[in-house]
Amino acid sequence: MNVDPKAKEKHELANESFRDSIATVGKKGERVWVYPKKPKGSFYNARTWVSLLLLAIFFGGPFLKIGGQPLLLLNFFERKFIIFGLAFWPQDFHLFLLAMITFVVFIVLFTAVFGRVWCGWACPQTIFMEMVYRKIEYWIEGDARQQKKLNAMPLNGEKFFKKALKHIIFIVIAIMIGNMFMAYIVGIGETLKIITASPATHMTGFISVMVFSGIFYFVFSRFREQACVIVCPYGRFQSVLLDKTSIVISYDFLRGENRGKLSRKKEPGPEQGDCVDCYQCVDVCPTGIDIRNGTQLECVNCTACIDACDTVMDKINKPRGLIKYASHDAIKTGNHKIITPRAIGYTILLFGLIVLLTILLLLRSPIEVTILRSPGTMYSILADGHINNLYSVKIINKTFNEMPLEFRLKDIDGKLTLVGSNMVIKADGIGQTALIVEFAPEVVKPGKNSFTIEVLHNGEVIETIDTGFVAPEVNNEKR
Ligand code: SF4
Ligand code: SF4
Repeated sequence: MNVDPKAKEKHELANESFRDSIATVGKKGERVWVYPKKPKGSFYNARTWVSLLLLAIFFGGPFLKIGGQPLLLLNFFERKFIIFGLAFWPQDFHLFLLAMITFVVFIVLFTAVFGRVWCGWACPQTIFMEMVYRKIEYWIEGDARQQKKLNAMPLNGEKFFKKALKHIIFIVIAIMIGNMFMAYIVGIGETLKIITASPATHMTGFISVMVFSGIFYFVFSRFREQACVIVCPYGRFQSVLLDKTSIVISYDFLRGENRGKLSRKKEPGPEQGDCVDCYQCVDVCPTGIDIRNGTQLECVNCTACIDACDTVMDKINKPRGLIKYASHDAIKTGNHKIITPRAIGYTILLFGLIVLLTILLLLRSPIEVTILRSPGTMYSILADGHINNLYSVKIINKTFNEMPLEFRLKDIDGKLTLVGSNMVIKADGIGQTALIVEFAPEVVKPGKNSFTIEVLHNGEVIETIDTGFVAPEVNNEKR
């Protein structure tokens, strides 16, 4: 191909006015409804398989248990969180914070290198919209052209039947998603009770499921791509997360320009690029954009335009990949290396964060113990001259097993007495008790002292707590 390089550069300097508005909003601010053509091709097939796997995980997740506990439970109402069978309490907030930081760094770095792979392949919005709801729409109403025709026709038997059938199925699926969503919050047992019992007995749960289902129905039947374009914060951040080296779905403008229709009568001139201006890539786009204008906020990297263009290239006997995963710089320079120093650096940083988080998770104590001197108390001096302090103890059992606990003093001569019976904390529960610690006067100095209490479970030290002890502010001899 021999094309004037100046013509190629024109693509980059082309009129950028399309960036001033979004494709799905008209000049008067009205919604422009997108009728994307049904995608076909190897990327679409691969995405269908990935989606099936992710849908199976989403719908099967609430039923999966590890050690009798849910795989994932995010009960914000009761502040109870179970991740991979491990219980997390609000006291584990530092871990949650670190996990969130790791996640944000992951998203930022991953996006900087690999673009919006998440949006196209794994985001629940894209999966439900493109792989569930859109497929049902194609099945009932036909491809884009038939859908437009159906919407334009006056209400008749056919239109009523198709629309009613489609929306009934949409609502049923939204209710299924709503119930599953609820199951990740309150657990599958509680959700099954909400489903099977009369709404009157679970009014809050019932209303919550209905609200979730209503939102899902609205998003997937009406709001659609607007969720990605207007609402999703990740989508809005693309302009700062991506740069010219990010691998995104790109049009190879060096190869494609100057675009022009093929003619049976005339051979294409040397200045004509491979793009035959057929608009197939635009017709399949679920966000209604033209990827040939360059990377745009609306592009969810769904790969539909790659498949569409590859089909065209096959037909005109040109190599595939006029639209492909590539960075702007890679297209410009022809260097398509994916593993760059930047990608390696980011990966190492991420790996470090993940290792740190894993170590902290593994070292996490199964209990959370607070031992404080009882408020309002000082010390008591016993008949034999020994001094004691009273402590209040609060323990959170983060495991799903009952925990009998013992307490002992570490490396100091004294006596520790548990007030009340033996300490057994209920599974996933909280226990409270009191302790009396007694020292001989020669063991402690006047005023404030510090010492350590060990907490034992089955004879093993599982936690050590540093705390204080108050002795009289006079010499031991004078007492
Ligand atoms: S431009 Fe291509 S990848 Fe981006 S949303 Fe449209 S069809 Fe999907
Ligand atoms: S599908 Fe390919 S050939 Fe057709 S307009 Fe899009 S980029 Fe050009």
